[in-house]
Amino acid sequence: MATTTAPDSTSILRGGEWLLQAASPDSVFTPERLTEEHRLIARTAQAFVDNEVLPVLDQLEQKDWTLARTLVRRGAALGLLGVDVPEAYGGLALDKVTSLVVSEKLARSASFGAAFGAQANLTVVPLMLFGTEAQKQKYLPGLLSGEVIGAYGLSESGSGSDALGARTKATRQGDGSFLLNGEKMWITNGGFADLFVIFAKVDGEQFTAFLVERSFGVKSGKEEHKMGLHGSSTTPLIFQDVKVPADNVLGEVGKGHKVAFNVLNFARFKLGAMCSGGAQGAIAEAAKYAGTRRQFGQPIANFGAIKHKLGEMVVRTYAVESLLYRTAGLVDERVAATPHEPTDGSAALAAFEEYAVEASIAKVLGSETLNYVLDENIQVHGGNGYVKDYPAERHYRDARVNRIFEGTNEINRLLIPGMLVRRAVKGDLPLIPAAKALQDELLGPPTLPEPDGSVLADERRAVEAFKKTALMVLGLAMQTFGPKLTDEQEVLMHAADILMDVFAAESAVLRAAAAHTRQLPRAELHIDAARVFVNDAAMRIDASARQALAATVDGDTLRAMLAALRRLIKVTPINTAALRRRLADETVARGAYPFA
Ligand SMILES: Cc1cc2nc3c(=O)[nH]c(=O)nc-3n(C[C@H](O)[C@H](O)[C@H](O)COP(=O)(O)OP(=O)(O)OC[C@H]3O[C@@H](n4cnc5c(N)ncnc54)[C@H](O)[C@@H]3O)c2cc1C
Repeated sequence: MATTTAPDSTSILRGGEWLLQAASPDSVFTPERLTEEHRLIARTAQAFVDNEVLPVLDQLEQKDWTLARTLVRRGAALGLLGVDVPEAYGGLALDKVTSLVVSEKLARSASFGAAFGAQANLTVVPLMLFGTEAQKQKYLPGLLSGEVIGAYGLSESGSGSDALGARTKATRQGDGSFLLNGEKMWITNGGFADLFVIFAKVDGEQFTAFLVERSFGVKSGKEEHKMGLHGSSTTPLIFQDVKVPADNVLGEVGKGHKVAFNVLNFARFKLGAMCSGGAQGAIAEAAKYAGTRRQFGQPIANFGAIKHKLGEMVVRTYAVESLLYRTAGLVDERVAATPHEPTDGSAALAAFEEYAVEASIAKVLGSETLNYVLDENIQVHGGNGYVKDYPAERHYRDARVNRIFEGTNEINRLLIPGMLVRRAVKGDLPLIPAAKALQDELLGPPTLPEPDGSVLADERRAVEAFKKTALMVLGLAMQTFGPKLTDEQEVLMHAADILMDVFAAESAVLRAAAAHTRQLPRAELHIDAARVFVNDAAMRIDASARQALAATVDGDTLRAMLAALRRLIKVTPINTAALRRRLADETVARGAYPFA
């Protein structure tokens, strides 16, 4: 079997390295660099949702799981389930950019997206990454054709965020099989799935993943009465002496955490993509409504207050979209640079572990941007936003859970600086020497920046200052609290907010600079979006850094740090009203997210 060729991996930015290194616009993957093949699959996914899912959404919301099965099979027939699965198992063997594009498009029906995601991301992916050849041969074809519906059972009533605290037991039997006893909670596709990835503790201790067929004796509890996602099944799963053959251990006994955490890295990234897709769809709805709804004798889109909303929805979505494509590009480059057999999932596994920080950022910023956009979408719709005749209220309810599942946003916020600090302590990321060098720089005389007339020069300089601020906050926190930093959650939350803004701002600036250099259509709007994002990020970062520093040190040290912060964040405010107006006007004129 042919091994994929390995380009040089040393030039590919490692996870978190963006904090310490500048990147050039041409090194970053952006939506504008999608190939015709990517665009074709995007159109396929979009047409599927428009023509086959959205027209039957009401029926799906009545919990018609036969319909849900049919839709999963239809999506599978179009190849959407096996986008990044090797051809040997019936997949299309395409890159992660493709799976990002598909996730974005499926987001327009959040309920169906959840069912599809539980199958594609939470069942197919763990099997791909950790299954034995025999397990893949046995289960992947059915999952990829949609004949078999999958679900992922990690959470329990007493252990959600603390997933390793699961109480479901797997008791080893004399013949090597296991007897499962316990109950899982809130399981997507729980009411009708056929195959489950279940986490249980072998002999009450060794956290382990299993492939469990419903026919082994799994029972579903009642459907939960949820705030949203009414077209997605969510139930408990009950295990009473469910016998699972020894061959159905997924990965190794006692190594279930590896399955759980690696799957989550991948799923968080795709959830971010769904959120970005959902935000783009809502922007189109808001723009169309604002363009036609008249008050005081004119379309409400003429009012500055509405232009501000539309402009800001676009700016935030632009930044999230930029960081998602940048991350997908990095994952694809790293997979391509790792010698591996096409059927071997270990390269993808390693790549997603490498970019776990970026996946958490995509999840948190994606879900919070989506919530912001959907809230403003309701506001643009006024009273019509609050009633069921328009989809705005459904989107709003459906989206709220994105901040809760796949690791709550608090848990992901803790992970973002937490993972960087761990890598720094292990010596994998030279964060500590960089923080020391920054201290020396800040104690020295100020240096005047070189005059630079290039596009977005001020914004690039601002991003460098943001990075130094993040380094200052994180470096000082590590120095002050040492290993006890994990107890300082408030500081870590502020650090996470700064880091997310750094990655998003830089990704937006690099994308806009690339659009300018390549003289793309609407390059000016790219620049507007990046400039507004950086302008506002400066204020957010300044506020977070002040709070984090004051929670870390006091007295003269705090005063010195605040003086250093003032030196770093010297961003002159720009007229964002004019830029948001331009973005809003273009959005209304197109009736769509302007960068779609
Ligand atoms: C619609 C829906 C579908 C779902 N689908 C699935 C599925 O398919 N499979 C599955 O396994 N699970 C699923 N879940 C469960 C979901 O993953 C959990 O609800 C989630 O992980 C949070 O766990 P919890 O509800 O127990 O909240 P808790 O862990 O009790 O958290 C409550 C609050 O405390 C915070 N918190 C908890 N621990 C900490 C900490 N150490 N530090 C700071 N703050 C903390 C949380 O951030 C949160 O704000 C689903 C949930 C829903 C609502």
